[in-house]
Amino acid sequence: SRSSLRGFFQRNLFVLFTVAAVALGAILGFSLRPHDLSLKEIKYFAFPGELLMRMLQMLVLPLIVSSLVTGISSLDSKASGKMGARAVAYYMVTTLVAVFIGIVIVVIIRPGKGSRDSPVTKSGHIEPVQAADAFLDLIRNMFPPNLVEACFKQYKTVYKKTVYTRNVTVTLNFTDSLNVTEYDLRANFSRVLHTMQETVEETVPVAGSSGGVNALGLVVFSMCFGLVIGNMKQQGQALRNFFDCLNEAIMRLVAIIIWYAPVGIMFLIAGKIVEMKDLAEVGGQLGMYTVSVIVGLFIHGLFVLPLLFFLVTRKNPYSFIGGLLQALITALGTSSSSATLPITFRCLEENNHVDKRVTRFVLPVGATINMDGTALYEAVAAIFIAQVNDMDLNFGQILTISITATAASIGAAGIPQAGLVTMVIVLTSVGLPTEDITLIIAVDWFLDRLRTTTNVLGDSLGAGIVEHLSREELQNQDAEMHDSVLEA
Ligand code: ASP
Repeated sequence: SRSSLRGFFQRNLFVLFTVAAVALGAILGFSLRPHDLSLKEIKYFAFPGELLMRMLQMLVLPLIVSSLVTGISSLDSKASGKMGARAVAYYMVTTLVAVFIGIVIVVIIRPGKGSRDSPVTKSGHIEPVQAADAFLDLIRNMFPPNLVEACFKQYKTVYKKTVYTRNVTVTLNFTDSLNVTEYDLRANFSRVLHTMQETVEETVPVAGSSGGVNALGLVVFSMCFGLVIGNMKQQGQALRNFFDCLNEAIMRLVAIIIWYAPVGIMFLIAGKIVEMKDLAEVGGQLGMYTVSVIVGLFIHGLFVLPLLFFLVTRKNPYSFIGGLLQALITALGTSSSSATLPITFRCLEENNHVDKRVTRFVLPVGATINMDGTALYEAVAAIFIAQVNDMDLNFGQILTISITATAASIGAAGIPQAGLVTMVIVLTSVGLPTEDITLIIAVDWFLDRLRTTTNVLGDSLGAGIVEHLSREELQNQDAEMHDSVLEA
């Protein structure tokens, strides 16, 4: 038919545009590099990219809330429970597999062997946050006391160290009971011996915030809210219609933004290439570390996840991935799985025809907690830092790293370089120096793009897998809907 032909043409045209955008962005970026632009000039130049980022981020919040609320309220609670359990099982298994691959590779390649490349600067020391604090913050963020605040702020424990000096007065009390005869002790009296200064160090936890949307909190709220209005029968109809309509409207906005996406992506990539430091300087240990992360991400994203997808669904994983190309490239351009979420939705629903009841439910959750790429990177980075410090890790410590790397990937927000921040959890759990994070900062912007792409890939293949496993529930639901329509 004509409309499906047009759809096919449009889809491929968009993919073509998007791929061309990456190539053009790279060409533009490399040709501008010799001109030594100032940071301000680069900022002006990359402005169209910044705009894309802002447009996408603008949609994320209403998209997460409306899709989860409609997704969950349109399923009966048994179906959503099963679907949720399958999604969580997929997230856990794939994240742990990713960590495992990372550990195997970093142990084989040993990028950190030999003595340290460069000394670590110890200035600007931040009070390290304990792994336990970070874990509690994760749970705190699931229950934001203020939903409006959760739209722009995440809670984070920070310790503030104050050093102050105070005067201490030392007094000596003489009493009768001392029975000291040299003195006249008929009365009690005391004498100030001397006043001295004492320095006190006090470390107190203060409420902090790491900025950014607290997506986790909004996800938890929206799921509960959806569950409740789904059970409210007739009474909840108005709200269900409202969120359904909101979701539809947001997706129409996405359809508009998608026209602009190639332009934005081109400038995001060009801007970053102009700005980056000379990569030729990245050799030695850091170079090998970068290679380790890349190899791990490739194995996980291009072989392990597709294999799992094939084993479960018996469909061709690579043609499924072909339908995701725009989302993957947007992830590469924006370094943010949250900002990519609108495009991921569109690719899955329009190109791969995944059931909306599944995407609405699993995608917002996946983009928030399921980060295979981040987990893999955290494990590689922690073990790399241990190697650089000549620290031999025993089995227990490696196990601790796997668990904390998983937690750190769940806790990381879907924003650029969030994984670098949650690295602290992994490092402190095995007693590695947190200031050594500075060793890997130079290449992080680059690895961030690749791990974000892997994260989005994992979420999307997961949606396909969950849909396949849930087809029975979905069909039952369809039949019920059909019956109730007939009844009416
Ligand atoms: N930037 C990544 C993402 O949005 C998170 C990370 O820093 O690992 O998925």
